[in-house]
Amino acid sequence: MNTLKQFPYKHALVLGLAKSGTAAATTLLRNHIQVRINDSQTEEDAEIVEQFTRLGAEVIVGGHPLSVLNEIEVIVKNPGIPYDNPVLQEAIKREIPIITEIELAALLADHHDIIGITGSNGKTTTTTLVYDMLLASERRIKLAGNIGVVATEVAEKLRDDEKLLLELSSFQLMGIQQFKPNVAGLLNLFDAHLDYHGTVDDYITAKANVFVNQTKDDYLVYNLDDPRVIEAIKKAKAKRIPFSMEEKNIDGAWLDNEYMYFKEEQIIALRDIVLVGDHNKENILAAIAISLLMGATKTGIHEVLTSFSGVEHRLQFVANKQNRLFYNDSKATNMLATEKALQAFQQPTILLVGGLDRGDNYHLLIPYLTYVKTMIVFGETADKLQEVAKQEDIHVTKVQDVKEAVHMAYELSAPGEIILLSPACASWDQYKTFEERGNMFIQAVHTLA
Ligand code: ADP
Repeated sequence: MNTLKQFPYKHALVLGLAKSGTAAATTLLRNHIQVRINDSQTEEDAEIVEQFTRLGAEVIVGGHPLSVLNEIEVIVKNPGIPYDNPVLQEAIKREIPIITEIELAALLADHHDIIGITGSNGKTTTTTLVYDMLLASERRIKLAGNIGVVATEVAEKLRDDEKLLLELSSFQLMGIQQFKPNVAGLLNLFDAHLDYHGTVDDYITAKANVFVNQTKDDYLVYNLDDPRVIEAIKKAKAKRIPFSMEEKNIDGAWLDNEYMYFKEEQIIALRDIVLVGDHNKENILAAIAISLLMGATKTGIHEVLTSFSGVEHRLQFVANKQNRLFYNDSKATNMLATEKALQAFQQPTILLVGGLDRGDNYHLLIPYLTYVKTMIVFGETADKLQEVAKQEDIHVTKVQDVKEAVHMAYELSAPGEIILLSPACASWDQYKTFEERGNMFIQAVHTLA
């Protein structure tokens, strides 16, 4: 089992006892660091509290008293806890470093190759593609991070010849100090999560942490078409490998009307790629560059791209019912994702849209509604979206939820049409997660005759 060799602290506070906090506390205890755990919930599983107490940790639940900071040299924070939390505010004042579990994972995996992929959109798709491409090329690789697998748990158990592939959110990246991937991927930078990060600059700084510790021996794969990315990477020291949908013959991944290339080499014909959507072409180009730098083979890449039809809930093809094609893009929790999904189709489309109201202006969707003949709206933003549809003379119907939306869409559809769930909003007004929303869509589709 890998150990924390270069962790310079003796006394750590683990803030937030969710999945990543539990794993971080376990790792720290195993490495003989004194651990205090603090979680605001009192109803946290009593068994876990007891278990950690037994292992020698001090567990404080039910609030965040500032005394939890006494003797603490470092805080391992759950990525979901915002920095305006009083304990974190006080820690910043006292200059106590605040890290996330990703930093621990990086220290555990310090003698392994690490790949870190971040960006506003496309992280999971690109990371999954890279993973599959390396596996298909018979490279030994483990996947973790934002994709739903706790990174420290994986990093601890890496075998000697295994690489670590991490999908990284900006929340995770804010808390890194030494983390240094051999290959970093920066996909794009849009205005996202500003409720958490405050300003666009803070958000970009967090994402830039993916390459901040890289040296000239490392690689940074970046989106040449995104001006914010170009601006953000100005100070990067790694070798830069671009990918682009627009520029040809570049020293990275690119495409023309027929093929995708890496540098001068033809990698795959576009007609052989199963995944739909221009945004996915961007993700594929990034994945080709990253996986080739990590030793993937052209055959492995080909094998994946000729079979991979999308990650669940991301423009995922669900079924063909009476020649109506159903796509589940429940992960589209912002307008940009929905714009990308709409751009993937040139057939008449029925759009299922709506959800949590974050105060967005949905008129920005208008340029992308060319093929949308009907909108079925639901959730907190239903009325706002209805107004947009009316303004554009698009037929619109308001329903209660995704299940009703599926039935309504089927009723209003004609053969050859696309029925697309791409909500442009988070799911939390009606559903626990975007997965729950997407599963409701899938189930409803499967009940149709
Ligand atoms: P993330 O993990 O960053 O949230 P996903 O791969 O899960 O990204 O995709 C989420 C949604 O974002 C997809 O449903 C799609 O509509 C949109 N999307 C995916 N890739 C891109 C991209 N390269 N640029 C813009 N939008 C994208």
